[in-house]
Amino acid sequence: MELEIKQPEHIVPSYSMTGDLLSYLRCRLQYRYHNGSALPPSRPVQQWFGEFLHGTLELSFRFWQENQSLYSFPWPCTQRTWGSDPPEWDTNDIGKFADTVESSLRKQGKEARSADARNSGYRRVATAINQLGPHLFPLIASAEKKVIGTRPVPTLDVELRCSNYEVHGVIDVLTNITLGHVTDANLIRLCVQSVCSGLAGEYEVIVDYKGSKRPRYSEPYWQQGNWQLQTYAWLRSRQPDALPVAAGILIYINELTPGTKEMQGLKSGIANGTTDILPEPGSLDEQLVRMWRPGNNTDQLSLDFRLRRAIRVVPITPESIQTALTEFDDIVRRAETDIVQESYSGNIVEAWYPTCEDKDTCVACDFRHFCPKPADSPENYELNTPTAP
Ligand code: SF4
Repeated sequence: MELEIKQPEHIVPSYSMTGDLLSYLRCRLQYRYHNGSALPPSRPVQQWFGEFLHGTLELSFRFWQENQSLYSFPWPCTQRTWGSDPPEWDTNDIGKFADTVESSLRKQGKEARSADARNSGYRRVATAINQLGPHLFPLIASAEKKVIGTRPVPTLDVELRCSNYEVHGVIDVLTNITLGHVTDANLIRLCVQSVCSGLAGEYEVIVDYKGSKRPRYSEPYWQQGNWQLQTYAWLRSRQPDALPVAAGILIYINELTPGTKEMQGLKSGIANGTTDILPEPGSLDEQLVRMWRPGNNTDQLSLDFRLRRAIRVVPITPESIQTALTEFDDIVRRAETDIVQESYSGNIVEAWYPTCEDKDTCVACDFRHFCPKPADSPENYELNTPTAP
């Protein structure tokens, strides 16, 4: 009897947009340790705000959606034809949603790192719901939309374990905008139209919430946020009910109530010419930003300025989608190459040499004490640097 030759196992590795691709870009060594171990992070506080924010916004939207008849007051940013009014809840009401999400996170061992961080989380989420909600909620066609697709892995000189990979993610919010059904006072429509010219008819806008400050152009997060939206647009376009995706919006929630990091980022962006949304010359906002010192509060900054800092519109075109897909394909190739290198060398640090440039990430990293190159300790780099791969 002739025995069949066993074919090598066919692997199609699965990569999540945020959990894998963006995590790998943040630091490949941290990514390797987290993904090669069943242990949860020892300090899950880093995850707390992101999950708290997404959970509370989604819960508020679901409640608003199911109880629209309760909200009967007029609002200028949507027409009645949408059958929608804004929430305008009191902070206490929003606190009920936030409490529900917070207690669920607590059961998973995720807590805010301090009372200040918790209070700031509650404040930011309340501002997001009451200031952005009126513009955003009535346009939402779908929240937490799952998207998935497969892509080829580019090959270079290293033989990899796969030729294709699966990429998947969750779009926070998919909005459906029909020009003429949304009034000029709707901030989302205004922002999209100010960046994307020649829009007509019905189109979709992908929205992603970021529990962070607005990055400067010089920071890698600026480009990565763009690639993320472009890739979501490609994944969404392959679904049968998809409309043309005109734009993506990143909402940097921290800019709604800016703290020290946001103000330092803004001032340094202005000084270096690496940020795009500036206060109007001669305005009170400009004076407040110029005079700001750590410890000053920012309550007097105008809502208009804070909203403009929070909202970033990214135009979506076939070319920009292709650029982002090429980048992420290459990131998967690099991660798969690291897997092969580790299996050859048996040395994790050598194969997944750390790449993080963000001091905050390194300060909170579980692996910093044996990391050869934490971003905040250049002297460690000199002492511990192994032979670079
Ligand atoms: S300390 Fe920084 S560079 Fe080192 S593994 Fe952690 S995140 Fe990466």
